[in-house]
Amino acid sequence: MYEGPVQELIDELAKLPGVGPRGAQRIAFHLLSVQPDDIDRLTRALTRVRNDVRYCDVCGNVSAELRCRICSDPRRDRSKVCVVEEAKDVQAVERTREFTGLYHVLGGALNPIKSISPEKLRIRDLLLRLGTAMDGVDVSEVIIATDPDTEGEATASYLVRMLKDFPGLTVTRPASGLPMGAELEFADELTLGRAMSGRRALSEPPRVLSEIPRARHEG
Ligand SMILES: [Zn+2]
Repeated sequence: MYEGPVQELIDELAKLPGVGPRGAQRIAFHLLSVQPDDIDRLTRALTRVRNDVRYCDVCGNVSAELRCRICSDPRRDRSKVCVVEEAKDVQAVERTREFTGLYHVLGGALNPIKSISPEKLRIRDLLLRLGTAMDGVDVSEVIIATDPDTEGEATASYLVRMLKDFPGLTVTRPASGLPMGAELEFADELTLGRAMSGRRALSEPPRVLSEIPRARHEG
């Protein structure tokens, strides 16, 4: 145990994911040795995270404005929506440069043990979003890029069931090749990029009557 503020800092740092008590001690002593300006910048960044970060009204990604950088970019293809679990997965898919559409952040995955039910995720927002054209463009493809683990797969199946009868909508999933049980954010760019570009359809839009061969009506 150290005295006063140093121990307090170590305790707080140790709560961060992936840090642990030894790492916390290392970071704390590093901070004791840096310039006051560096500490001020870190303090400002933390305060801004608390006060200024909001979530995009459209996709749920972290954002500084009402609409995030991606949703407000006119060059992005509004007909494709990639559904991910967390905002950090948006960054993972962005890094592949394989996807030019928009995103929808669910805020997690279905997990009965942690009592995360469909109502706890942004699924209703997704359905509402698909029912309304954004900037005059209808969504024609939803790519379900939840993590390739048990919860992610359960969430994907649930979404496919919800979306399969949506008029004019194709539901796809990134191609296999992502390591099972892994998290999307840790997939390497090449593998994830390939999975995104080689995505396969899980459900096609229901065919309209005029496309069904006439023979079926006659026969
Ligand atoms: Zn957005």
